[in-house]
Amino acid sequence: MIIPPGIWVSTEGSRLQGGDAGLFLDRDGVVVDEAGYLRRAQDVHIAKGAAELIAWANGLGIPVVVVSNQSGIARGLFGWPDHEGVEREMARMLALRGARIDLSLACPFHPDFTHGYSAEHAQWRKPGPGMLLHASGLLGLNLPRSWMIGDKASDVEAARSAGLPACIHVLTGHGPEERDRAVTLASPTFQVLTADDMEAAIEVLKARFNR
Ligand SMILES: [Mg+2]
Repeated sequence: MIIPPGIWVSTEGSRLQGGDAGLFLDRDGVVVDEAGYLRRAQDVHIAKGAAELIAWANGLGIPVVVVSNQSGIARGLFGWPDHEGVEREMARMLALRGARIDLSLACPFHPDFTHGYSAEHAQWRKPGPGMLLHASGLLGLNLPRSWMIGDKASDVEAARSAGLPACIHVLTGHGPEERDRAVTLASPTFQVLTADDMEAAIEVLKARFNR
Protein backbone atom coordinates (compact mmCIF):
# COMPACT_ATOMS: atom_id res chain seq x y z
CA MET A 1 0.00 0.00 0.00
CA ILE A 2 1.31 3.44 -0.87
CA ILE A 3 0.65 5.92 1.92
CA PRO A 4 0.68 9.53 0.73
CA PRO A 5 3.25 11.67 2.58
CA GLY A 6 1.82 13.03 5.81
CA ILE A 7 -1.54 11.28 5.56
CA TRP A 8 -2.47 8.88 8.35
CA VAL A 9 -4.08 5.61 7.26
CA SER A 10 -5.32 3.02 9.74
CA THR A 11 -3.54 -0.30 9.68
CA GLU A 12 -6.13 -2.29 11.60
CA GLY A 13 -9.56 -3.38 10.53
CA SER A 14 -11.04 -5.66 7.98
CA ARG A 15 -10.21 -3.86 4.72
CA LEU A 16 -13.25 -5.08 2.89
CA GLN A 17 -12.77 -5.19 -0.85
CA GLY A 18 -15.97 -3.70 -2.11
CA GLY A 19 -16.20 -2.80 -5.76
CA ASP A 20 -19.49 -1.19 -4.92
CA ALA A 21 -20.92 1.61 -2.82
CA GLY A 22 -18.97 2.81 0.18
CA LEU A 23 -20.07 5.01 3.05
CA PHE A 24 -17.73 7.87 3.93
CA LEU A 25 -18.08 9.46 7.34
CA ASP A 26 -16.50 12.51 8.85
CA ARG A 27 -15.31 11.68 12.37
CA ASP A 28 -15.64 14.62 14.76
CA GLY A 29 -19.23 15.78 15.17
CA VAL A 30 -20.47 12.77 13.17
CA VAL A 31 -19.14 9.44 14.48
CA VAL A 32 -18.01 10.94 17.79
CA ASP A 33 -19.25 14.01 19.61
CA GLU A 34 -17.36 17.17 18.70
CA ALA A 35 -14.83 17.86 21.44
CA GLY A 36 -12.58 20.48 19.80
CA TYR A 37 -9.27 18.96 18.66
CA LEU A 38 -10.12 15.61 20.22
CA ARG A 39 -6.85 14.12 21.41
CA ARG A 40 -7.57 12.09 24.55
CA ALA A 41 -9.15 8.65 24.53
CA GLN A 42 -11.19 9.49 27.63
CA ASP A 43 -12.93 12.28 25.69
CA VAL A 44 -14.27 9.90 23.01
CA HIS A 45 -18.06 9.65 23.04
CA ILE A 46 -19.87 7.87 20.23
CA ALA A 47 -22.50 10.15 18.71
CA LYS A 48 -26.14 9.19 19.06
CA GLY A 49 -27.11 6.75 16.32
CA ALA A 50 -23.58 6.44 14.93
CA ALA A 51 -22.92 2.87 16.11
CA GLU A 52 -26.32 1.75 14.81
CA LEU A 53 -25.73 3.41 11.42
CA ILE A 54 -22.28 1.88 11.04
CA ALA A 55 -23.54 -1.56 12.12
CA TRP A 56 -26.32 -1.27 9.54
CA ALA A 57 -23.74 -0.60 6.80
CA ASN A 58 -21.54 -3.44 8.09
CA GLY A 59 -24.49 -5.78 7.85
CA LEU A 60 -25.00 -4.92 4.20
CA GLY A 61 -21.31 -5.28 3.38
CA ILE A 62 -21.01 -1.55 2.64
CA PRO A 63 -17.44 -0.49 3.47
CA VAL A 64 -17.36 2.27 6.07
CA VAL A 65 -14.54 4.79 5.66
CA VAL A 66 -13.76 7.63 8.05
CA VAL A 67 -12.11 10.67 6.44
CA SER A 68 -11.07 13.29 8.95
CA ASN A 69 -9.23 16.62 8.89
CA GLN A 70 -6.97 16.69 11.94
CA SER A 71 -5.28 20.07 11.79
CA GLY A 72 -4.50 19.75 15.50
CA ILE A 73 -1.44 17.90 14.22
CA ALA A 74 -0.26 20.87 12.11
CA ARG A 75 -1.15 23.21 14.98
CA GLY A 76 1.11 21.22 17.30
CA LEU A 77 -1.77 20.46 19.69
CA PHE A 78 -1.21 16.71 19.57
CA GLY A 79 0.68 14.00 17.72
CA TRP A 80 -0.12 10.84 15.79
CA PRO A 81 0.18 8.63 18.90
CA ASP A 82 -2.61 10.70 20.50
CA HIS A 83 -4.63 10.39 17.30
CA GLU A 84 -4.14 6.63 17.29
CA GLY A 85 -5.27 6.44 20.90
CA VAL A 86 -8.48 8.23 19.98
CA GLU A 87 -9.02 6.00 16.94
CA ARG A 88 -8.44 2.86 19.00
CA GLU A 89 -10.88 3.98 21.67
CA MET A 90 -13.48 4.87 19.01
CA ALA A 91 -13.04 1.41 17.44
CA ARG A 92 -13.30 -0.27 20.83
CA MET A 93 -16.49 1.55 21.77
CA LEU A 94 -18.03 0.84 18.36
CA ALA A 95 -17.09 -2.84 18.60
CA LEU A 96 -18.95 -3.10 21.91
CA ARG A 97 -22.04 -2.14 19.91
CA GLY A 98 -21.37 -4.40 16.97
CA ALA A 99 -20.04 -1.71 14.64
CA ARG A 100 -16.79 -1.60 12.68
CA ILE A 101 -14.99 1.08 10.67
CA ASP A 102 -13.22 -0.57 7.74
CA LEU A 103 -10.71 2.16 6.98
CA SER A 104 -9.83 5.50 8.52
CA LEU A 105 -7.78 8.32 7.04
CA ALA A 106 -6.73 11.60 8.61
CA CYS A 107 -5.22 14.72 7.06
CA PRO A 108 -2.95 16.76 9.36
CA PHE A 109 -2.48 19.79 7.09
CA HIS A 110 -3.74 23.33 7.59
CA PRO A 111 -3.06 26.32 5.33
CA ASP A 112 -1.95 28.50 8.25
CA PHE A 113 0.12 25.92 10.10
CA THR A 114 1.63 23.56 7.52
CA HIS A 115 4.95 24.88 6.27
CA GLY A 116 4.81 25.40 2.51
CA TYR A 117 1.11 24.56 2.28
CA SER A 118 0.40 24.04 -1.40
CA ALA A 119 -2.23 22.84 -3.87
CA GLU A 120 -0.94 19.33 -3.18
CA HIS A 121 -1.80 19.63 0.52
CA ALA A 122 -5.17 21.15 -0.38
CA GLN A 123 -6.01 18.04 -2.42
CA TRP A 124 -5.86 16.00 0.80
CA ARG A 125 -7.44 18.40 3.24
CA LYS A 126 -11.22 18.46 2.90
CA PRO A 127 -12.87 20.09 0.93
CA GLY A 128 -10.25 18.45 -1.30
CA PRO A 129 -11.24 14.95 -2.46
CA GLY A 130 -7.84 13.30 -1.87
CA MET A 131 -8.68 11.10 1.11
CA LEU A 132 -11.89 9.85 -0.51
CA LEU A 133 -10.12 9.08 -3.78
CA HIS A 134 -7.27 7.32 -2.00
CA ALA A 135 -9.65 5.20 0.10
CA SER A 136 -11.60 4.37 -3.02
CA GLY A 137 -8.43 3.07 -4.64
CA LEU A 138 -7.53 0.99 -1.58
CA LEU A 139 -10.96 -0.62 -1.26
CA GLY A 140 -12.08 -0.64 -4.88
CA LEU A 141 -15.12 1.51 -4.19
CA ASN A 142 -17.57 2.72 -6.78
CA LEU A 143 -17.60 6.45 -6.04
CA PRO A 144 -20.65 7.30 -8.18
CA ARG A 145 -22.63 4.94 -5.90
CA SER A 146 -21.02 6.00 -2.62
CA TRP A 147 -22.35 8.34 0.04
CA MET A 148 -20.91 10.67 2.64
CA ILE A 149 -22.16 12.05 5.95
CA GLY A 150 -20.66 15.22 7.39
CA ASP A 151 -21.32 18.15 9.70
CA LYS A 152 -19.32 20.75 7.79
CA ALA A 153 -19.81 22.22 4.33
CA SER A 154 -16.24 21.11 3.60
CA ASP A 155 -17.36 17.49 4.06
CA VAL A 156 -20.16 18.03 1.57
CA GLU A 157 -17.81 19.75 -0.87
CA ALA A 158 -15.25 16.92 -0.58
CA ALA A 159 -17.99 14.42 -1.42
CA ARG A 160 -19.00 16.46 -4.47
CA SER A 161 -15.39 16.87 -5.62
CA ALA A 162 -14.82 13.11 -5.32
CA GLY A 163 -17.74 12.41 -7.64
CA LEU A 164 -20.21 11.08 -5.09
CA PRO A 165 -23.88 11.52 -5.99
CA ALA A 166 -24.99 12.64 -2.53
CA CYS A 167 -24.06 13.71 0.96
CA ILE A 168 -26.13 13.83 4.14
CA HIS A 169 -25.51 16.93 6.20
CA VAL A 170 -26.20 16.49 9.92
CA LEU A 171 -26.85 19.15 12.57
CA THR A 172 -24.52 17.63 15.17
CA GLY A 173 -21.02 19.03 15.70
CA HIS A 174 -20.61 22.21 13.64
CA GLY A 175 -23.76 21.36 11.69
CA PRO A 176 -25.99 24.25 12.79
CA GLU A 177 -23.61 26.98 11.62
CA GLU A 178 -22.68 25.04 8.47
CA ARG A 179 -26.15 24.02 7.25
CA ASP A 180 -26.84 27.09 5.08
CA ARG A 181 -23.58 26.74 3.16
CA ALA A 182 -23.86 22.95 2.99
CA VAL A 183 -27.18 22.98 1.16
CA THR A 184 -25.95 25.53 -1.41
CA LEU A 185 -23.50 22.85 -2.64
CA ALA A 186 -26.30 20.83 -4.22
CA SER A 187 -26.20 20.65 -8.02
CA PRO A 188 -28.11 18.81 -10.76
CA THR A 189 -25.75 15.86 -10.28
CA PHE A 190 -25.16 16.11 -6.53
CA GLN A 191 -27.80 15.91 -3.82
CA VAL A 192 -27.44 17.39 -0.36
CA LEU A 193 -29.83 15.64 2.01
CA THR A 194 -30.37 16.77 5.56
CA ALA A 195 -30.83 14.95 8.85
CA ASP A 196 -30.77 16.14 12.44
CA ASP A 197 -28.31 13.47 13.57
CA MET A 198 -26.98 10.01 12.77
CA GLU A 199 -30.13 8.39 14.12
CA ALA A 200 -32.15 10.29 11.53
CA ALA A 201 -29.51 9.72 8.86
CA ILE A 202 -30.06 5.94 9.11
CA GLU A 203 -33.62 6.44 7.91
CA VAL A 204 -32.45 8.59 4.98
CA LEU A 205 -29.92 5.93 3.98
CA LYS A 206 -32.39 3.05 4.35
CA ALA A 207 -34.86 4.82 2.10
CA ARG A 208 -32.19 5.51 -0.52
CA PHE A 209 -30.59 2.09 -0.44
CA ASN A 210 -34.06 0.51 -0.46
CA ARG A 211 -33.34 -1.67 2.54
MG1 LIG B 1 -16.71 17.27 11.66
